[in-house]
Amino acid sequence: MSDLRFKAVEEAMARKAVHVDIPAQRPETYYGSLVFNRQKMFEYLPKHTYDALVKAIDMKEPLPRDLADSVAAGMKRWAIDNGARHYTHWFHPLTDGTAEKHDAFIEHDGKGGVVEEFNGKLLVQQEPDASSFPNGGIRNTFEARGYSAWDISSPAFILDQTLCIPTIFISYTGESLDYKTPLLRALNAVDRAGTKVAQLFDPEVKHVCSYLGWEQEYFLVDEALFAARPDLVLTGRTLMGHESAKNQQLEDHYFGSIPKRVEAFMLDLEIEAHRLGIPAKTRHNEVAPNQFELAPVFEEANLANDHNLLLMSLMTEVGRRHNFRVLFHEKPFAGINGSGKHNNWSLGTDTGTLLFAPGKTPAENLQFVTFVANTMAAVHRHNGLLKASIASATNAHRLGANEAPPAIISVFAGRQLSDLFTHIVNGDDTLDFAGKEGVKIGVHQIPEIMVDNTDRNRTSPFAFTGNRFEFRAVGSSANCASALIALNAAVADQLETFYGKVQKRLAAGEELNHAILAEVREILIESQNIHFDGNGYSDEWKEEAARRGLDCETSVPKIFDAYLRPESVEMFSRTGVFSSVELEARNEVKWEMYTKKVQIESRVLGDLALNHVLPVATRYQSLLVDNLVKLRTLFPGEQGKHISAGDLDSIEHMAEHMTEIRNEVEKMTQARKEANRIKSEREKAIAYHDNVVPCMETIRYHIDKLELMVDNEMWPLPKYRELLFIR
Ligand code: ADP
Ligand code: MG
Repeated sequence: MSDLRFKAVEEAMARKAVHVDIPAQRPETYYGSLVFNRQKMFEYLPKHTYDALVKAIDMKEPLPRDLADSVAAGMKRWAIDNGARHYTHWFHPLTDGTAEKHDAFIEHDGKGGVVEEFNGKLLVQQEPDASSFPNGGIRNTFEARGYSAWDISSPAFILDQTLCIPTIFISYTGESLDYKTPLLRALNAVDRAGTKVAQLFDPEVKHVCSYLGWEQEYFLVDEALFAARPDLVLTGRTLMGHESAKNQQLEDHYFGSIPKRVEAFMLDLEIEAHRLGIPAKTRHNEVAPNQFELAPVFEEANLANDHNLLLMSLMTEVGRRHNFRVLFHEKPFAGINGSGKHNNWSLGTDTGTLLFAPGKTPAENLQFVTFVANTMAAVHRHNGLLKASIASATNAHRLGANEAPPAIISVFAGRQLSDLFTHIVNGDDTLDFAGKEGVKIGVHQIPEIMVDNTDRNRTSPFAFTGNRFEFRAVGSSANCASALIALNAAVADQLETFYGKVQKRLAAGEELNHAILAEVREILIESQNIHFDGNGYSDEWKEEAARRGLDCETSVPKIFDAYLRPESVEMFSRTGVFSSVELEARNEVKWEMYTKKVQIESRVLGDLALNHVLPVATRYQSLLVDNLVKLRTLFPGEQGKHISAGDLDSIEHMAEHMTEIRNEVEKMTQARKEANRIKSEREKAIAYHDNVVPCMETIRYHIDKLELMVDNEMWPLPKYRELLFIR
C-alpha cells in the first residue's frame, strides 16, 4: 500500500481556507503603496529632479546622468521608509521568469560600523555575471560581464523588503541578453512608424503606444499532492496519469462558484498585487477542474509585461501560504484543457485614440481600417515568425490540442469586419471623396461600425475582439515579451511600408484619403489568405491553410527556424529590434532550452517508469500469479482453467504493457544518448523532438493502462481524480 499517496490525499482533504488579513481601507488607499510611482517621486525627490525625471519618462529619453545621484537618494529614502533592507536590479533573462541579485544597502562607515548607502551609479547600472545566463554564445567566459541598466519607464517597487529596479540586461558589446531590451526596441519601432501613419489622420499625434492586457490562466494543486508527484515537482506537468472518470465533461467548473480555499488565495493575491500597482481586476474559474484565470486592466505593454512577470512570482509565493502550488505549465494534465495567456493587444495615440476601435466619423473609421489592415498584413507576412514567438517545448502540448488555438496562425475578423473588407476590396475607383467634412468613401457601413465584441471564435489564434486583437496562442508560462516583440516589430515594419506607399501616391498627386484607401485595398487583397473565420480545429482547415501557403510546421525546433529566414532577419534589422548576431544567438538558446526541457522530462519519466511503476505492477502481477496457481491447484483440469481465465488474461495484459514500457525506456535512453552526441543545437533539438518525444508518449500510454489494472491501494502516485478536485 502506498502510504505517501494516501497521506497526501488525507492531508489535502483536511485542509481549510487560510485566513487572509483584509486591509481595513479600500483598495485605492493602498494601491501602489509599494511602488515608487509619480506620487512618491514627487514626495521624495527635489522639485527639479522630479520634473526632469518625469520629462525623461514622458519623452522616452534616458535619465540625465547628473540626476542619478539625486534620484537614487530619494528612492533609497522611500525604500527604507517602507522597510526595504536590500536592493536589486530586476531583469528578464532568456530563461522563464526573472532574475535578481540582492545587495544590502550597507557600506563601511570608516568607524567600524556601517551606513546605508545607495547612489546613482548603483541605481543606473550593475554588472551581473552574464555567462551564467543563457546567451547563445554571445558571452565568452573571458568576457563574462553583462550590464543591467535601469528602465525608467517601469517604476521601481518593493518585494520582500527588497527594492527592485526594473532593468534591461545586455552584453558588454551591446547585444541584448534579455526580453526587455528588444521589447523596448520593438515598442519604439511601432511608436515611430505608427505615429507617421496616425499623423496622416491627425497631425497632432506625437506618439503611438502599444497596450497589453494579459489573461493569466493557471492550475492550483494542493501542496501535499504536488509533493507526492515527482513529475510535477521536476517538470511542472504530469508525465503520466489516466483521465479521471469525471473531469470537465459536465462543464460545471467554468465560471462556477470558486472553492473557499481558492477564494482566500485569490483575495490574498489581489491585495498583494494592488499594493504592487498591478491592476488585477477579473478572476474566475476556467474550463478545467482546478483551473483559474486572473486578468488585469490593460496597460502600456512594457509595464503590463513587467506586471505579468511580477504577478507570476507573487502567485507562486502567495500560493505557498495557502498550501497550493501554482502550475503555469501549458498542459499539466493530459486530456484536460491547457492554460494559455491571451495577449490582448492594441495601439493607441497620445491624443487618446484607440486605433483598433471603430470611430464615429468616416475619417476615424478610415484610420481604424488602416491599422487593422496593416496588422493583418503583418501577421500574414510573418505568420511563421509569430508562431515561432509563442512556440516552446511546453506550449507544444497545448497548441493544436482540441481546446487551444491550432498550430497555424490565422486572423479572425468577425462578420461585420469581414463584410467591410469585402466591400473595400470590391469597391472601384469611383469612390467619392468630398473634402474634409463629408468623407464619403463609398463604404456606408464605416460610419456605423459597431463591431460586436461577443462575436467570439475560440478556435482562432489571433482574433479581432472589438477594439483590440487577442493573440491567444501565447502559452501560460511564457514571457509575453516574446510574442510582443515579434508582433510590434512586424506591424511597425508593415506600417513603414504602408506609409512609404501612401507618400508615393501623394507625390503622384493623389488625394490623401483616396491614396490611403487604395493602399488599404491593396494590402487587404494581398493578405486575404491570413483571414479565416471558420473552425480552426477542423482537418479541412489544415489542408486549406497549406494550400494558402500559411506556415503549417508542427515541430517546435523547426518552427524556430522562422527567426532566421531572410524576411525575418531583414524585418528585425530594418526596425532595429534584433541584429542577425542576436537572432542567431537567441535561436541557439531556444533550441538548447527545448532540448533541456525534453531531456529532463524524459529522465524523470524513465525513472518513474522503472522505479515506481514497474515494481508496483510486478508486485500486483505476482499476487495474481499466486492466485492463479492456487486456483488451478484447487480446481485442476478444465474447471480450473475456466475459473482462472480472467486472472490469466490480466497477467498477460500486464506483462505486455510492462514489456513495452521496459523496451521503450531502453529505446528512449538510447535515443537520448545519440542525440546528446550531436554538436549542432538545432539538430540536437530536432533529434529530441523526433526520437525522444514519441517514446515518452508510448511509455505514458502503457503506464496509464497499467494504472487502470493495478490495485488502487498499491498505485504510488496521486491520481488525476485526487489532484484535480479541490474541495
Ligand atoms: P475575455 O476572457 O472575455 O477575453 P477578460 O475580461 O478576461 O476577457 O480579459 C480581457 C483583457 O483585455 C483585460 O485584461 C482587458 O483589460 C484587456 N483589454 C480590453 N481592452 C483592451 C485594449 N483596447 N487593448 C488591450 N487590452 C485590452
Ligand atoms: Mg480573452
